[in-house]
Amino acid sequence: MNEEIDPAPPESEGEVQFEGALRPKSLGEFVGQSKVREQLVLLLDAAKKENRTPDHILLSGPPGLGKTTLAMIVAEETQQSLRITSGPAINHAGDLAAVLSSLVPGEVLFIDEIHRMARPAEEMLYLAMEDFRIDIMVGKGAGATTLPLDLAPFTLVGATTRSGLLPGPLRDRFGFTAHLEFYSEVELTEVVKRSSAVLGLTWPTEALGEIASRSRGTPRIANRLLRRVRDYVLVHDTAPDVDSVQAALLLYDVDELGLDRLDRAVLDTLIRKFAGGPVGLGTLSVSVGEEAETIESVVEPFLVRQGFIQRTPRGRQATPAAYAHLGHEAPSRNDL
Ligand code: ADP
Repeated sequence: MNEEIDPAPPESEGEVQFEGALRPKSLGEFVGQSKVREQLVLLLDAAKKENRTPDHILLSGPPGLGKTTLAMIVAEETQQSLRITSGPAINHAGDLAAVLSSLVPGEVLFIDEIHRMARPAEEMLYLAMEDFRIDIMVGKGAGATTLPLDLAPFTLVGATTRSGLLPGPLRDRFGFTAHLEFYSEVELTEVVKRSSAVLGLTWPTEALGEIASRSRGTPRIANRLLRRVRDYVLVHDTAPDVDSVQAALLLYDVDELGLDRLDRAVLDTLIRKFAGGPVGLGTLSVSVGEEAETIESVVEPFLVRQGFIQRTPRGRQATPAAYAHLGHEAPSRNDL
């Protein structure tokens, strides 16, 4: 799966290491998202002046846009250690209690995919975020009682690809929330330039720009494509120019707008099996053979941004631009 140029989180050890090497270490190195960066600087500076832990931070947006990176930067900039866990790893309130009770003062706790945390843990988190305190259940049944436990002050950084799934009371307890947007081509060119410099590559700007333009607005994908093109150039012993980028990405099924095989499968299914829609997410996901959550949080945001899909109350609908991109003739319907 990971050899695909898909926007899913990194899975192989090699890619985790590769990403680690390319990850910006400070807000100054972090490309784009200028508003969020500015707001974060303010938040961290204010906390520093008052000698307290910064407010809890919620970051939302599709995978690969820099949520984990920002959590690491918050820890780095506040010179605190970082503890990383994820919603799916917290199945019981006890899992969370174990993490929270072992935090050292000032530590940054990063919970990725926070919307997938178990409900009882979520409720425990409310109190922990608000008062740095939790109630631990002791015993069972009628004899059960709760023991209050004070926690070290900490900063929670929560990340989610689905902020809509986060319960209101949890969202309200974050002092700062930010939605990360897809990156522009100019910003992604900067990302790829920075990465190529870290890797010691001196490639022409046009080739790097070509990679950026096919990166689905996502830094993780930009870095992944850079790696694939580097492999291609190495194996074919060819120049790292635009032609090589195009040839390499053709091989990896990434088209000129950055759509990958799954993006195109969704559009193709929508157009050919459902006459362009509208069709519900569940039906679409079964037809494509991909989980509804992946389609909703990974595929759709980009296709909507590109103007290929419209979300209507009756379901997903392909736009005339989607027909054109896939080389189909759009039906002459007024409601498209
Ligand atoms: P997320 O947590 O949102 O899925 P990550 O923070 O893991 O995304 O980012 C994936 C990779 O993309 C990182 O390893 C980093 O190298 C790169 N990256 C993300 N955002 C930026 C950025 N703003 N500037 C430079 N590189 C970035």
